[in-house]
Amino acid sequence: MPVQCSKCEAPAFYLRRYTAEALCRTCLTETTQERTRRTINKHKMLRENDRIAVAISGGKDSAVLLHVLYQLEKNYPNTEIVPLTIDEGIKGYRDKALDAAHELTRSLGLELEVRTFSNILNYSMDDIIEMRDVDKPIGACSYCGVFRRRALNLAATELGADVIATGHTLDDEAQTIMMNMMRGDSLRIVRTNRPRNKRIEGLVPRIKPIMEITERDAVAYAHNKGLPYHDVPCPYASEAYRNDLRTFLNEMEHRRPGTLLAILRSGEAITKALDVSTEASEFQHCEICGSITSTRICKVCSLLDELTKKGNV
Ligand code: SF4
Ligand code: ZN
Repeated sequence: MPVQCSKCEAPAFYLRRYTAEALCRTCLTETTQERTRRTINKHKMLRENDRIAVAISGGKDSAVLLHVLYQLEKNYPNTEIVPLTIDEGIKGYRDKALDAAHELTRSLGLELEVRTFSNILNYSMDDIIEMRDVDKPIGACSYCGVFRRRALNLAATELGADVIATGHTLDDEAQTIMMNMMRGDSLRIVRTNRPRNKRIEGLVPRIKPIMEITERDAVAYAHNKGLPYHDVPCPYASEAYRNDLRTFLNEMEHRRPGTLLAILRSGEAITKALDVSTEASEFQHCEICGSITSTRICKVCSLLDELTKKGNV
């Protein structure tokens, strides 16, 4: 006999291991949206009248984020969703992901805003890889992450967004928390989870509405809804540390369902225990570009300075 949904009697489509629920297609959709709604409310991520810039990569996680937010925010006519893609300029990768992002936004009747590294920083990621110091290369993702954060903030500011929503899943969050702990940098856990009401002037607040949805759940949701997404890894992906942790945590989650959620809860407890407000006074304007930074020269300017010093431009 086919397995029945734990919530209704329809045939099950998906087994959510950490809640030990077999779910039919409808209940998978409803519980994923409800779980996201609870996360949004718990962390007071959104307000009525918000203009929400939704960071879309073309991958499955941000596709799920956009689809779920779209369904939830339909009930709030004064809320506006603005899908936004930062095109880093990685030939054969981001261009394909962009096609998927366009297809997704069109299917929801939304217009995708696209900003490029080349326009914002003068260099694409392909340029940056060429310009890197071959003797002591910094990982591609280190440039990409710093530059993307800046590009997102600039684009969201220009679009008049009140908040930036990103598609970080429970897996991403658990990996990041563990990485910061293993590097002895617990304060970073606090910094990356700054609540919206403790925003820093000049930085658009960031929220992670699907941070309690596992990657496995996201894949099931995307397939169930037939969402278009691009699933090929980036040619510059070099985060060996994160990949090791991903493998380890996936195994732990498989053996002991609930591990990822327990790590997220530990991260929340750390964030609660260490007060972020004391740290806000340490922010200043970068001496070169004027952006908000915790150091004299911001990370974007120091990375760009190092790249251009090589004289390869
Ligand atoms: Fe950028 Fe690294 Fe992601 Fe590629 S894998 S898009 S280089 S952060
Ligand atoms: Zn700067």
